[in-house]
Amino acid sequence: MAVDGALRAELAVRGVRGRPSVRRRGGAGPSDDGHVLLQGSQTTLPLADDSPFAVGEAGGLLRDGEPIGGVELELVGRPRFYDLTTAQGIPYEQIAKLHGAEVLATTVVQTCVRYDPSQRCRFCTIEESLRSGDTIQVKRPEQIAEVAEAAVRLDGVRQLVMTTGTANHADRGARHLARCCAAVAQAVPDLPIQVQCEPPGDLATIAELHGAGATAIGIHVESLDDEVRRRWMPGKATVPLQAYWRAWHEAVAVFGHNRVSTYLLVGLGEDPDELVAGARELIDAGVYPFVVPFRPLAGSLAMADGARAPAPELLGSVTRRVADALVEAGMSGVEQGAGCAACGACSALSATGG
Ligand code: SF4
Repeated sequence: MAVDGALRAELAVRGVRGRPSVRRRGGAGPSDDGHVLLQGSQTTLPLADDSPFAVGEAGGLLRDGEPIGGVELELVGRPRFYDLTTAQGIPYEQIAKLHGAEVLATTVVQTCVRYDPSQRCRFCTIEESLRSGDTIQVKRPEQIAEVAEAAVRLDGVRQLVMTTGTANHADRGARHLARCCAAVAQAVPDLPIQVQCEPPGDLATIAELHGAGATAIGIHVESLDDEVRRRWMPGKATVPLQAYWRAWHEAVAVFGHNRVSTYLLVGLGEDPDELVAGARELIDAGVYPFVVPFRPLAGSLAMADGARAPAPELLGSVTRRVADALVEAGMSGVEQGAGCAACGACSALSATGG
């Protein structure tokens, strides 16, 4: 049984205390979490020492030290592939990480042309995980293929997500993603793959990604409000929304209905009604709007600004309305086949029916 939507929204914002062994500190985009199974579903929750929630010693979820009846929560165990290294001595864990219980994820290029503080997305910490030595700068296609094969064989991984920092080329990094897809598809032919990139300058690159073996694609805008985009993502906001719409339409034509997704962040100051109306437009176009709370990550500009996560009530209400629109349209995250929406761990959408 899915966890109650209001509780899921509160957990997404307040997080849990503790140090799960599978976690992601910093990196590209807006998530940074501990990985758990909540009512058996893969879930990522912020790790927050001031949260009222904690994992009980015998499993289960505690609030202010008291068990919450009927809620099962387990930590995801350390995967076996983390103990391996490549022939060159690079730990597999620095090439790709386990997300949730069964998703392998990697940032194929860990730098971003937009990382100058005047251009950077204020929620992002892509280069911080590189500086801390958690990862390597460029993952080569054969390295990702090697890790993917081991993660499937040893840990039952069921899908791969590959994202990238934005490159200083017209393709914005998509062609390296296509080479990585081709290598993984050869090594592990049945592993569904989602790729994530900005709208590539040449829309034909979207077909290259599909032809190379990608199952689904995320083209993440984070907000459909230009004023919010300029304030939070000055570099990315130079790519006009029309370019996103062209890329989404092309991606739906190539990958199919509900094989394309985008992130929409709640808590950047966008009008909630406009956010939900934008999500409906995306749904009408066959694009899955993955609604996720903004959370200030350590090392991000947003953290330095003192920005706060949204109120759980706001997140809960937006999530419920977007989930209703998804249900009306007959779209579910699982049908994406691979990627953030298929996993669902970072959003409360799947707990609310989407
Ligand atoms: S475009 Fe923004 S979110 Fe993406 S890697 Fe660059 S700074 Fe991070």
